[in-house]
Amino acid sequence: MTIDQYNFNGKKAIVRVDFNVPLDENGKITDDTRIRGALPTLKKILADGGSLIIMSHMGKPKGKVNPKLSLSQIKDTVGKYLNTEVEFAEDCAKAAEQAKNLKPGGVLLLENLRFHPEEEGKPVGIDKEDPAYDAAKKEMKERQKEFAKTLASYADVYVNDAFGTAHRRHASTAVIADYFDQDDKMLGYLMEKEVKAVDNILSDIKRPFTAIMGGSKVSTKIGIIENLMDKVDNLILCGGMTYTFAKAQGGNVGKSICENDKLDLALDIIKKAKEKGVNLVLGTDCVAADDFSNDANTMVVSCMDIPAEWEGLDAGPETRKAFANAIKDAKTILWNGPAGVFEFDNFTAGSRAIADAIVEATEKGAFSLVGGGDSVACINKFGLADKVSYVSTGGGALLEAIEGKELPGIAAIRGSKK
Ligand code: AMP
Repeated sequence: MTIDQYNFNGKKAIVRVDFNVPLDENGKITDDTRIRGALPTLKKILADGGSLIIMSHMGKPKGKVNPKLSLSQIKDTVGKYLNTEVEFAEDCAKAAEQAKNLKPGGVLLLENLRFHPEEEGKPVGIDKEDPAYDAAKKEMKERQKEFAKTLASYADVYVNDAFGTAHRRHASTAVIADYFDQDDKMLGYLMEKEVKAVDNILSDIKRPFTAIMGGSKVSTKIGIIENLMDKVDNLILCGGMTYTFAKAQGGNVGKSICENDKLDLALDIIKKAKEKGVNLVLGTDCVAADDFSNDANTMVVSCMDIPAEWEGLDAGPETRKAFANAIKDAKTILWNGPAGVFEFDNFTAGSRAIADAIVEATEKGAFSLVGGGDSVACINKFGLADKVSYVSTGGGALLEAIEGKELPGIAAIRGSKK
């Protein structure tokens, strides 16, 4: 079933969204992108004559009530965008009466799902090493099913539009789907768009395909790097990873971020790239700083020869050119992770060179996907988000999808491929 095929007239729809928006110290939303992202789905349901039960998590309350993470703080913004009054359920597990009384066109927002440990389904207050852990986990899984069943009981139809949490098997993202017939559960518009963007990268590859992986560490990206090695023509590895590679090849990296226990892994990646005929592009020069701050003194040095008290915080001019060359003629592009400490204005040049080359390639017809928290912040900082083909809302979910893993949130609706 697709959301477009479904007529929500007279139906109560429970919709899992990702309203995990950033708030300031006064509880004011500082970026409502995620709320706006879910609007097409929510509006379609209301326009059909259905009613909405909206559920989301916010932050990491770890199974306990935490007023700072209450979704009541976003109720008015949701109401403003939907142009209607929004009712609030102070306990998501005790909203049966309010759900029952919803009229067509009515909107009920449930309190933060993660105030209940059952949402994540992980036992709380017990260590994994504890001999009683397995029993506690089993018990929690049962409680999770009950919790999901309660949520499901509020509605006739379930829609999952929360791509950011689709890689988690939580009560509201996956388990709940078991309590709906195949015809009464579906992905929302945002999810459909995300899945299509990933499909474009995984199955419909137009060549050359250039992937750019940045960020701080090799260790958190190794799964996707290995997976991409079988698919890409050019692989740019940048950001903090640069220095693990430089050190592995005998370089002096000074105080640069470096994973000393991943040197063999770095050499292995270089070897695999050669074997598979992948053009691996690593930083050759960098902008080194004498302090981890925006106002530090800087100099351009070879990544292999960084003075002892200095650290590489951005890609150097030669490297930026090499990155741009590997990107600008590509037909498929994936970018995850910045090429430097882009949060400091003086160390954005590497990421900017990447973003500009992606925009250039996109203008020439490439499909470009930018995803993962920091690269999205980066492309937004440059004001170029609408000049790439697709900006994903998913961080971990996007990477897992591209690694080829089945996302529980999607499998729960479409059925497992395994
Ligand atoms: P990740 O969460 O692994 O994607 O890493 C993103 C972070 O990596 C950003 O906050 C960047 O500031 C940081 N980063 C990028 N390049 C460097 C670098 N050369 N040294 C330290 N941190 C970096």
